[in-house]
Amino acid sequence: MDKTQVWNQVLENLSQKISRMEFHTWFKKVHLKEISGSAVLISCPTEMNKNWLENKYQTILLNNVQKTLPEIDRIYFNVDLTLADKPAVIAPAFAKPKAPRKLPKQPTEKHASGLESRLVQNKFTLDNFIVGEKNRLAHAACLAVAQTAGQEAKAYNPLYLYGGVGLGKTHLLQGTANAIRQQNPEAVVIYTTAERFTNEAIKAIREGKTEALRKKYRRVDVLLIDDVQFFAGKEKTQVEVFNTFNDLRDLNKQMIFSADRPPAQLEKMADRLSSRFGWGLVVDVTMPSYETKMAIIRAKAQALGLILPEDVQQFIATNVRKNLREVENVLNMIHAELELSQVSPTIQSVGKIFRQLQPNEDLITGREHRSLARNPDDIITLISDYFQIPATDLIGTSRKQEIVFPRQISWLLCKDVLKMSFEGIGEAFGGKNHTTIMHGVRKVKDLARTDSATARHIHALKKDLGVR
Ligand code: ADP
Ligand code: MG
Repeated sequence: MDKTQVWNQVLENLSQKISRMEFHTWFKKVHLKEISGSAVLISCPTEMNKNWLENKYQTILLNNVQKTLPEIDRIYFNVDLTLADKPAVIAPAFAKPKAPRKLPKQPTEKHASGLESRLVQNKFTLDNFIVGEKNRLAHAACLAVAQTAGQEAKAYNPLYLYGGVGLGKTHLLQGTANAIRQQNPEAVVIYTTAERFTNEAIKAIREGKTEALRKKYRRVDVLLIDDVQFFAGKEKTQVEVFNTFNDLRDLNKQMIFSADRPPAQLEKMADRLSSRFGWGLVVDVTMPSYETKMAIIRAKAQALGLILPEDVQQFIATNVRKNLREVENVLNMIHAELELSQVSPTIQSVGKIFRQLQPNEDLITGREHRSLARNPDDIITLISDYFQIPATDLIGTSRKQEIVFPRQISWLLCKDVLKMSFEGIGEAFGGKNHTTIMHGVRKVKDLARTDSATARHIHALKKDLGVR
């Protein structure tokens, strides 16, 4: 039995114990990577997924592996980020099968339209890609490419997107492929990953069929290759990529590449190839701003039919710091828990999920941390700027109304945004009594209810601080 068969068997056994939901959340992209002596290695698409399996499913997985391979006594887990882009494993039949399960039809290479590649998922579109400051250019370039597909590629050829893991490159590439399929069904589009291309090239070289390979790629209108850093050190494959590149350039056909770094920093890559990657438009894709993250969370929650309280959304946005795939992981978990408990998610319950998913990361709780102000000095600087009065006056004791009012607003912000105590604020403002602070804060709060100008000031200042 090969490892895929073993894994299918394990999943089949597991399907008696876990729900379809659990399968989709935790096993869909998990593979048995290696069987070696008495150990097996299980690969997961994300760190969170790995932690979860390690902590929650280790024993049950071991038991199930042993049903097929009794000699196994250890399970190791690792993360293989490339799994996220690979097709899901075939779901086992879950309890109460209604009809005999039909195996999915062998996926065909060619869609009804010109789009080639079963790797392209419909869920990635350019429409549902949330655009913010940091990814506007990348998105706009993809849109432009999609709109002119089939015509001579001029402006951005090749388009090269780069950035860290989980920041949206594959979403953009597949979204572009889908957009072209919609707008121009005649265009021949191939989306592939560097890994798949490499396998194809190696096979072609082995079988002496490189001409056929070259021909296949010569007839495309748009070629998209994801994660080209994977070509590192694959010299013969690089020759094939180079030839294809030149063919398509000559024919003015569009190419889009993605990678985890800019062309010049690609390692073990022929110079003539890495320099060509940079011939067109090179755009970086970075971690979106807080606001964009919030929009992504809302959109993904909505797609799952999840209603999340605002503070929970904020909590997720603050704590997803490196990889946007974590958003999906966390939302899937919330969704799964909700199905079981029917209790609306809170910061506490979602915090628990985060801690299970990433035990080694510090959690940021409370909204104060995402404010741009970290201490009372930041607030004093802001207020002094905003009202055009010296900072020393804010800390001082002047009773002039033009000073007292901004001073009280500073206290209010220290209270609301930094969550400081009245005592703490008193200290920060030149050693004032906490009752003075308390009265001052109450006074502007009351004023804001009746006086729209005061309310507007407070609103504007909070907005400046990045809080609402
Ligand atoms: P990469 O290929 O850069 O590693 P992916 O394209 O796989 O990253 O993105 C990871 C996840 O984050 C996907 O679920 C993707 O839909 C989501 N994502 C990233 N950026 C955005 C965005 N701007 N709008 C909506 N979803 C996004
Ligand atoms: Mg990717």
